[in-house]
Amino acid sequence: MTTTWAPVPAGSGFGVDNLPYGVFTPAGGDPRVGVRIGDHVLDLAAALNDPVFSADSLNPFLALGPAAWRGVRAEIVALLTDPAGEAAHAAALHPLADVALRLPFEVADYVDFYASEQHATNLGRMFRPDAAALLPNWKHLPVGYHGRAGTVVSSGTPVVRPAGQRKAPSDEAPVFGPSVRLDIEAELGFVVGAPSEAGKPVGTGGFAEHVFGVCLVNDWSARDIQAWEYVPLGPFLGKSFATSVSPWVVPLEALGAARTATPAQDLAPLPHLVDEEPWGLDIALEVELNGQIVSRPPYGQMYWSPAQMLAHMTSNGARLRTGDLFASGTISGPERDQRGSFIELTWNGAEPLRLADGTERTFLEDGDTVTLRATAPAPGGGRIDLGEVTGRIAPSPA
Ligand code: MN
Repeated sequence: MTTTWAPVPAGSGFGVDNLPYGVFTPAGGDPRVGVRIGDHVLDLAAALNDPVFSADSLNPFLALGPAAWRGVRAEIVALLTDPAGEAAHAAALHPLADVALRLPFEVADYVDFYASEQHATNLGRMFRPDAAALLPNWKHLPVGYHGRAGTVVSSGTPVVRPAGQRKAPSDEAPVFGPSVRLDIEAELGFVVGAPSEAGKPVGTGGFAEHVFGVCLVNDWSARDIQAWEYVPLGPFLGKSFATSVSPWVVPLEALGAARTATPAQDLAPLPHLVDEEPWGLDIALEVELNGQIVSRPPYGQMYWSPAQMLAHMTSNGARLRTGDLFASGTISGPERDQRGSFIELTWNGAEPLRLADGTERTFLEDGDTVTLRATAPAPGGGRIDLGEVTGRIAPSPA
Protein backbone atom coordinates (compact mmCIF):
# COMPACT_ATOMS: atom_id res chain seq x y z
CA MET A 1 0.00 0.00 0.00
CA THR A 2 1.23 3.47 -0.90
CA THR A 3 2.30 5.53 2.09
CA THR A 4 0.26 8.53 3.11
CA TRP A 5 0.57 11.10 5.87
CA ALA A 6 -3.13 10.64 6.56
CA PRO A 7 -3.92 8.26 9.45
CA VAL A 8 -4.86 4.85 8.03
CA PRO A 9 -5.29 2.04 10.61
CA ALA A 10 -3.37 -1.19 9.95
CA GLY A 11 -5.45 -3.54 7.82
CA SER A 12 -7.82 -0.80 6.66
CA GLY A 13 -9.31 -1.31 3.21
CA PHE A 14 -9.55 2.47 2.81
CA GLY A 15 -5.96 3.30 1.85
CA VAL A 16 -4.67 5.40 -1.03
CA ASP A 17 -5.41 2.58 -3.48
CA ASN A 18 -9.17 2.92 -2.80
CA LEU A 19 -10.35 6.54 -2.24
CA PRO A 20 -14.10 6.13 -2.69
CA TYR A 21 -16.23 9.27 -3.11
CA GLY A 22 -19.16 10.30 -0.97
CA VAL A 23 -21.11 13.30 0.29
CA PHE A 24 -20.86 14.37 3.90
CA THR A 25 -22.09 17.11 6.17
CA PRO A 26 -19.59 18.33 8.77
CA ALA A 27 -20.96 19.53 12.10
CA GLY A 28 -22.44 22.96 11.54
CA GLY A 29 -21.52 23.01 7.84
CA ASP A 30 -23.05 22.45 4.44
CA PRO A 31 -22.90 19.16 2.51
CA ARG A 32 -19.90 18.67 0.26
CA VAL A 33 -18.03 15.95 -1.61
CA GLY A 34 -15.18 14.03 -0.02
CA VAL A 35 -13.09 10.90 -0.37
CA ARG A 36 -12.64 8.39 2.41
CA ILE A 37 -9.10 7.73 3.64
CA GLY A 38 -8.83 5.41 6.66
CA ASP A 39 -11.49 6.48 9.12
CA HIS A 40 -11.51 10.07 7.87
CA VAL A 41 -13.04 11.94 4.98
CA LEU A 42 -11.00 14.45 3.00
CA ASP A 43 -13.03 17.55 2.10
CA LEU A 44 -12.30 17.92 -1.62
CA ALA A 45 -13.77 21.38 -1.96
CA ALA A 46 -11.22 22.56 0.59
CA ALA A 47 -8.28 20.34 -0.37
CA LEU A 48 -8.51 20.93 -4.13
CA ASN A 49 -10.08 24.40 -3.93
CA ASP A 50 -12.55 23.32 -6.59
CA PRO A 51 -16.20 24.47 -6.39
CA VAL A 52 -17.43 21.34 -8.25
CA PHE A 53 -17.07 19.59 -4.87
CA SER A 54 -19.06 22.23 -2.92
CA ALA A 55 -22.21 20.31 -3.81
CA ASP A 56 -24.69 18.08 -2.04
CA SER A 57 -24.20 15.32 -4.64
CA LEU A 58 -21.46 13.85 -6.78
CA ASN A 59 -23.40 14.65 -9.96
CA PRO A 60 -21.57 17.86 -11.00
CA PHE A 61 -18.25 15.98 -10.74
CA LEU A 62 -19.63 12.84 -12.40
CA ALA A 63 -20.82 14.90 -15.37
CA LEU A 64 -17.24 16.02 -16.14
CA GLY A 65 -16.36 12.61 -17.57
CA PRO A 66 -13.47 10.17 -17.43
CA ALA A 67 -10.55 12.53 -18.15
CA ALA A 68 -11.57 14.72 -15.20
CA TRP A 69 -12.14 11.63 -12.99
CA ARG A 70 -8.62 10.40 -13.73
CA GLY A 71 -7.11 13.84 -13.22
CA VAL A 72 -8.79 14.43 -9.86
CA ARG A 73 -7.84 10.99 -8.58
CA ALA A 74 -4.19 11.63 -9.52
CA GLU A 75 -4.33 14.98 -7.71
CA ILE A 76 -5.78 13.40 -4.56
CA VAL A 77 -3.17 10.62 -4.55
CA ALA A 78 -0.38 13.19 -5.02
CA LEU A 79 -1.75 15.33 -2.19
CA LEU A 80 -2.12 12.41 0.22
CA THR A 81 1.32 10.94 -0.52
CA ASP A 82 3.32 14.18 -0.51
CA PRO A 83 4.87 14.56 2.96
CA ALA A 84 4.40 18.32 2.61
CA GLY A 85 0.67 17.74 2.10
CA GLU A 86 0.00 17.27 5.78
CA ALA A 87 0.74 20.87 6.76
CA ALA A 88 -1.41 22.20 3.93
CA HIS A 89 -4.33 19.80 4.08
CA ALA A 90 -4.67 18.24 7.54
CA ALA A 91 -7.45 20.74 8.30
CA ALA A 92 -9.51 19.29 5.41
CA LEU A 93 -9.55 15.85 7.07
CA HIS A 94 -12.63 15.13 9.20
CA PRO A 95 -13.01 12.05 11.42
CA LEU A 96 -15.97 10.02 10.13
CA ALA A 97 -17.40 10.10 13.64
CA ASP A 98 -17.82 13.88 13.30
CA VAL A 99 -19.74 13.94 10.02
CA ALA A 100 -23.06 12.72 8.63
CA LEU A 101 -22.93 10.70 5.41
CA ARG A 102 -25.61 11.31 2.79
CA LEU A 103 -26.93 9.76 -0.38
CA PRO A 104 -23.81 10.14 -2.57
CA PHE A 105 -25.48 11.02 -5.87
CA GLU A 106 -28.82 12.24 -7.15
CA VAL A 107 -30.33 9.21 -8.84
CA ALA A 108 -31.54 9.92 -12.37
CA ASP A 109 -32.99 6.67 -13.72
CA TYR A 110 -32.76 3.37 -11.84
CA VAL A 111 -32.66 0.02 -13.61
CA ASP A 112 -32.27 -3.36 -11.93
CA PHE A 113 -30.96 -6.42 -13.76
CA TYR A 114 -31.17 -10.16 -13.07
CA ALA A 115 -27.64 -11.19 -14.07
CA SER A 116 -26.91 -14.11 -11.72
CA GLU A 117 -27.58 -17.48 -13.33
CA GLN A 118 -27.78 -19.10 -9.89
CA HIS A 119 -30.32 -16.59 -8.63
CA ALA A 120 -32.46 -16.82 -11.78
CA THR A 121 -32.24 -20.62 -11.64
CA ASN A 122 -33.19 -20.77 -7.95
CA LEU A 123 -36.20 -18.51 -8.44
CA GLY A 124 -37.25 -20.42 -11.56
CA ARG A 125 -37.13 -23.71 -9.65
CA MET A 126 -39.23 -22.32 -6.81
CA PHE A 127 -41.87 -20.58 -8.92
CA ARG A 128 -42.03 -22.83 -11.99
CA PRO A 129 -41.11 -26.29 -10.66
CA ASP A 130 -42.54 -28.03 -13.70
CA ALA A 131 -40.79 -25.91 -16.32
CA ALA A 132 -37.19 -25.12 -17.33
CA ALA A 133 -35.63 -23.01 -14.55
CA LEU A 134 -34.38 -20.32 -16.96
CA LEU A 135 -36.84 -18.68 -19.35
CA PRO A 136 -35.88 -18.81 -23.07
CA ASN A 137 -34.58 -15.22 -23.23
CA TRP A 138 -32.27 -15.40 -20.21
CA LYS A 139 -29.01 -16.34 -21.98
CA HIS A 140 -29.71 -14.05 -24.95
CA LEU A 141 -30.02 -10.77 -23.06
CA PRO A 142 -29.54 -9.40 -19.53
CA VAL A 143 -33.12 -9.28 -18.21
CA GLY A 144 -33.98 -6.11 -16.30
CA TYR A 145 -36.74 -3.72 -15.24
CA HIS A 146 -37.06 -0.02 -14.47
CA GLY A 147 -37.19 0.68 -10.74
CA ARG A 148 -38.12 3.84 -8.83
CA ALA A 149 -35.27 6.37 -8.63
CA GLY A 150 -37.08 8.56 -6.09
CA THR A 151 -37.08 5.87 -3.40
CA VAL A 152 -33.37 5.07 -3.55
CA VAL A 153 -32.25 5.94 -0.01
CA SER A 154 -28.98 6.32 1.86
CA SER A 155 -27.58 3.62 4.08
CA GLY A 156 -29.08 3.73 7.57
CA THR A 157 -32.47 5.04 6.44
CA PRO A 158 -35.14 2.94 8.22
CA VAL A 159 -37.07 0.68 5.85
CA VAL A 160 -40.78 0.82 6.64
CA ARG A 161 -42.51 -2.49 6.03
CA PRO A 162 -44.62 -1.93 2.92
CA ALA A 163 -48.30 -2.65 2.70
CA GLY A 164 -49.78 -4.07 -0.46
CA GLN A 165 -52.03 -6.52 -2.11
CA ARG A 166 -51.22 -10.20 -1.96
CA LYS A 167 -52.85 -13.48 -2.81
CA ALA A 168 -51.32 -16.87 -2.23
CA PRO A 169 -52.29 -19.51 -4.82
CA SER A 170 -54.41 -21.23 -2.14
CA ASP A 171 -56.29 -18.02 -1.23
CA GLU A 172 -59.75 -17.37 -2.63
CA ALA A 173 -59.26 -13.63 -3.01
CA PRO A 174 -56.52 -11.04 -2.52
CA VAL A 175 -56.10 -9.10 0.73
CA PHE A 176 -54.42 -5.77 1.48
CA GLY A 177 -52.03 -5.36 4.40
CA PRO A 178 -48.41 -5.26 5.58
CA SER A 179 -46.10 -7.61 3.67
CA VAL A 180 -45.42 -10.87 5.52
CA ARG A 181 -42.57 -11.90 3.19
CA LEU A 182 -40.13 -9.00 3.33
CA ASP A 183 -36.75 -9.85 1.82
CA ILE A 184 -33.45 -8.38 0.67
CA GLU A 185 -31.46 -8.59 -2.54
CA ALA A 186 -27.66 -8.24 -2.21
CA GLU A 187 -26.45 -6.43 -5.32
CA LEU A 188 -23.79 -4.18 -6.80
CA GLY A 189 -24.82 -0.85 -8.31
CA PHE A 190 -23.10 0.88 -11.24
CA VAL A 191 -23.16 4.68 -11.23
CA VAL A 192 -23.26 6.46 -14.59
CA GLY A 193 -21.25 9.66 -14.81
CA ALA A 194 -20.89 10.73 -18.43
CA PRO A 195 -24.18 11.02 -20.33
CA SER A 196 -24.76 9.68 -23.85
CA GLU A 197 -26.70 11.02 -26.81
CA ALA A 198 -30.21 9.84 -27.61
CA GLY A 199 -30.22 7.44 -30.53
CA LYS A 200 -26.59 6.39 -30.02
CA PRO A 201 -26.16 3.04 -28.27
CA VAL A 202 -23.19 2.69 -25.91
CA GLY A 203 -21.41 -0.56 -26.70
CA THR A 204 -19.70 -2.81 -24.20
CA GLY A 205 -16.46 -0.97 -25.01
CA GLY A 206 -17.94 2.28 -23.68
CA PHE A 207 -18.37 1.01 -20.14
CA ALA A 208 -15.43 2.82 -18.51
CA GLU A 209 -16.12 5.99 -20.52
CA HIS A 210 -19.60 6.31 -19.02
CA VAL A 211 -19.63 4.43 -15.71
CA PHE A 212 -17.84 6.19 -12.88
CA GLY A 213 -17.92 3.58 -10.17
CA VAL A 214 -19.60 0.99 -8.01
CA CYS A 215 -21.69 1.04 -4.83
CA LEU A 216 -23.53 -1.57 -2.77
CA VAL A 217 -27.27 -1.92 -3.27
CA ASN A 218 -29.93 -3.62 -1.16
CA ASP A 219 -33.02 -4.05 -3.33
CA TRP A 220 -35.58 -4.63 -0.55
CA SER A 221 -38.32 -6.89 -1.93
CA ALA A 222 -41.80 -7.80 -0.65
CA ARG A 223 -42.12 -11.29 -2.11
CA ASP A 224 -45.85 -11.66 -1.45
CA ILE A 225 -46.71 -8.36 -3.14
CA GLN A 226 -44.27 -9.16 -5.96
CA ALA A 227 -45.66 -12.67 -6.61
CA TRP A 228 -49.22 -11.39 -7.07
CA GLU A 229 -48.51 -8.24 -9.07
CA TYR A 230 -45.63 -9.14 -11.40
CA VAL A 231 -47.54 -10.89 -14.19
CA PRO A 232 -47.26 -9.82 -16.97
CA LEU A 233 -45.35 -6.52 -16.67
CA GLY A 234 -42.74 -7.27 -14.02
CA PRO A 235 -41.79 -5.94 -10.56
CA PHE A 236 -43.63 -2.83 -9.32
CA LEU A 237 -44.80 -2.04 -5.76
CA GLY A 238 -43.08 -5.09 -4.28
CA LYS A 239 -39.79 -3.31 -4.99
CA SER A 240 -40.42 0.42 -5.26
CA PHE A 241 -40.90 1.23 -1.55
CA ALA A 242 -37.14 1.43 -0.84
CA THR A 243 -33.74 0.62 -2.34
CA SER A 244 -30.72 1.31 -0.12
CA VAL A 245 -27.28 2.28 -1.41
CA SER A 246 -23.91 2.53 0.33
CA PRO A 247 -22.45 5.96 1.10
CA TRP A 248 -19.21 5.36 -0.85
CA VAL A 249 -18.88 5.06 -4.61
CA VAL A 250 -15.66 3.21 -5.46
CA PRO A 251 -14.28 4.48 -8.78
CA LEU A 252 -13.61 1.89 -11.51
CA GLU A 253 -9.99 3.05 -11.37
CA ALA A 254 -9.66 1.44 -7.92
CA LEU A 255 -11.02 -1.88 -9.20
CA GLY A 256 -8.29 -2.75 -11.72
CA ALA A 257 -7.07 -5.71 -9.66
CA ALA A 258 -10.65 -6.97 -9.26
CA ARG A 259 -11.34 -7.07 -12.99
CA THR A 260 -11.70 -10.61 -14.23
CA ALA A 261 -13.29 -12.74 -16.92
CA THR A 262 -16.98 -13.52 -16.59
CA PRO A 263 -17.90 -17.23 -16.36
CA ALA A 264 -18.02 -18.93 -19.78
CA GLN A 265 -21.18 -17.87 -21.62
CA ASP A 266 -22.35 -21.15 -23.09
CA LEU A 267 -24.64 -19.46 -25.60
CA ALA A 268 -22.75 -16.91 -27.73
CA PRO A 269 -24.39 -13.49 -27.28
CA LEU A 270 -25.47 -11.46 -30.31
CA PRO A 271 -22.71 -9.16 -31.61
CA HIS A 272 -23.89 -6.02 -29.75
CA LEU A 273 -23.51 -7.86 -26.42
CA VAL A 274 -20.06 -9.32 -27.03
CA ASP A 275 -17.68 -8.10 -24.34
CA GLU A 276 -14.19 -8.25 -25.93
CA GLU A 277 -12.42 -7.33 -22.69
CA PRO A 278 -14.85 -8.59 -20.07
CA TRP A 279 -15.77 -6.58 -17.02
CA GLY A 280 -16.21 -9.43 -14.59
CA LEU A 281 -15.43 -8.26 -11.06
CA ASP A 282 -13.92 -10.40 -8.31
CA ILE A 283 -15.82 -8.75 -5.45
CA ALA A 284 -16.69 -10.68 -2.29
CA LEU A 285 -19.90 -9.69 -0.52
CA GLU A 286 -21.30 -10.63 2.85
CA VAL A 287 -24.85 -10.44 4.17
CA GLU A 288 -25.26 -9.82 7.90
CA LEU A 289 -28.56 -10.21 9.75
CA ASN A 290 -28.65 -8.76 13.27
CA GLY A 291 -24.88 -9.07 13.60
CA GLN A 292 -24.58 -12.59 12.17
CA ILE A 293 -23.17 -13.31 8.72
CA VAL A 294 -25.68 -15.50 6.89
CA SER A 295 -24.26 -15.48 3.35
CA ARG A 296 -21.16 -14.63 1.31
CA PRO A 297 -22.24 -14.00 -2.30
CA PRO A 298 -19.41 -13.97 -4.88
CA TYR A 299 -19.83 -11.28 -7.57
CA GLY A 300 -17.25 -13.05 -9.78
CA GLN A 301 -19.84 -15.72 -10.64
CA MET A 302 -22.23 -13.30 -12.37
CA TYR A 303 -23.14 -14.47 -15.88
CA TRP A 304 -23.68 -11.04 -17.49
CA SER A 305 -21.04 -8.34 -17.06
CA PRO A 306 -21.99 -4.74 -16.25
CA ALA A 307 -20.61 -3.71 -19.67
CA GLN A 308 -23.12 -6.08 -21.27
CA MET A 309 -25.90 -4.66 -19.07
CA LEU A 310 -24.98 -1.12 -20.19
CA ALA A 311 -24.82 -2.15 -23.86
CA HIS A 312 -28.22 -3.83 -23.60
CA MET A 313 -29.80 -0.90 -21.73
CA THR A 314 -28.77 1.55 -24.47
CA SER A 315 -29.10 -0.78 -27.48
CA ASN A 316 -32.46 0.79 -28.41
CA GLY A 317 -30.97 4.28 -28.40
CA ALA A 318 -32.11 5.22 -24.88
CA ARG A 319 -29.71 7.87 -23.60
CA LEU A 320 -27.76 7.84 -20.36
CA ARG A 321 -27.98 10.66 -17.86
CA THR A 322 -25.53 11.63 -15.15
CA GLY A 323 -26.66 9.86 -11.99
CA ASP A 324 -28.26 6.87 -13.69
CA LEU A 325 -27.96 3.80 -11.49
CA PHE A 326 -28.12 0.27 -12.78
CA ALA A 327 -27.86 -2.64 -10.39
CA SER A 328 -26.72 -6.18 -11.06
CA GLY A 329 -29.63 -8.12 -9.64
CA THR A 330 -29.30 -10.45 -6.69
CA ILE A 331 -25.83 -11.97 -6.44
CA SER A 332 -26.01 -15.69 -5.69
CA GLY A 333 -23.25 -18.29 -5.95
CA PRO A 334 -23.68 -22.03 -6.35
CA GLU A 335 -23.48 -22.86 -2.61
CA ARG A 336 -26.37 -22.42 -0.21
CA ASP A 337 -24.38 -19.99 1.96
CA GLN A 338 -23.66 -17.86 -1.14
CA ARG A 339 -27.26 -16.92 -1.86
CA GLY A 340 -28.05 -13.20 -1.87
CA SER A 341 -31.69 -13.27 -0.73
CA PHE A 342 -33.69 -14.87 2.07
CA ILE A 343 -36.15 -16.42 -0.37
CA GLU A 344 -33.23 -18.48 -1.67
CA LEU A 345 -31.46 -18.96 1.68
CA THR A 346 -34.67 -20.43 3.17
CA TRP A 347 -35.96 -21.93 -0.09
CA ASN A 348 -39.15 -19.90 -0.17
CA GLY A 349 -39.53 -20.17 3.61
CA ALA A 350 -39.46 -23.99 3.71
CA GLU A 351 -35.98 -24.20 5.27
CA PRO A 352 -35.71 -21.53 8.00
CA LEU A 353 -32.30 -20.14 8.92
CA ARG A 354 -31.25 -20.98 12.47
CA LEU A 355 -29.66 -17.94 14.08
CA ALA A 356 -27.03 -17.84 16.83
CA ASP A 357 -29.57 -16.54 19.37
CA GLY A 358 -31.67 -19.69 18.91
CA THR A 359 -34.37 -18.02 16.83
CA GLU A 360 -35.28 -18.89 13.25
CA ARG A 361 -35.87 -16.66 10.25
CA THR A 362 -37.58 -17.12 6.96
CA PHE A 363 -38.39 -13.53 5.99
CA LEU A 364 -37.57 -10.30 7.84
CA GLU A 365 -39.24 -9.28 11.10
CA ASP A 366 -39.75 -5.75 12.42
CA GLY A 367 -36.57 -4.56 14.12
CA ASP A 368 -34.28 -6.77 12.01
CA THR A 369 -31.15 -5.06 10.67
CA VAL A 370 -29.53 -6.21 7.45
CA THR A 371 -26.06 -5.01 6.46
CA LEU A 372 -24.26 -5.77 3.21
CA ARG A 373 -20.48 -5.38 2.95
CA ALA A 374 -17.95 -6.09 0.23
CA THR A 375 -14.22 -6.14 -0.48
CA ALA A 376 -12.15 -6.53 -3.63
CA PRO A 377 -8.49 -7.32 -4.38
CA ALA A 378 -6.23 -4.26 -4.15
CA PRO A 379 -3.64 -3.49 -6.83
CA GLY A 380 -0.63 -4.16 -4.57
CA GLY A 381 -2.10 -7.09 -2.65
CA GLY A 382 -4.47 -6.91 0.28
CA ARG A 383 -8.03 -5.77 -0.24
CA ILE A 384 -9.96 -2.59 -0.75
CA ASP A 385 -13.22 -2.09 1.11
CA LEU A 386 -16.49 -1.06 -0.52
CA GLY A 387 -17.94 -0.23 2.88
CA GLU A 388 -21.45 -1.18 3.84
CA VAL A 389 -25.12 -0.52 3.28
CA THR A 390 -27.42 -1.09 6.21
CA GLY A 391 -31.10 -0.79 7.00
CA ARG A 392 -33.47 -1.68 9.86
CA ILE A 393 -37.04 -2.77 9.34
CA ALA A 394 -39.60 -0.42 10.90
CA PRO A 395 -43.17 -1.60 11.49
CA SER A 396 -45.85 -0.87 8.94
CA PRO A 397 -48.13 2.00 9.93
CA ALA A 398 -50.95 0.21 8.11
MN1 MN B 1 -33.11 -6.80 -7.51
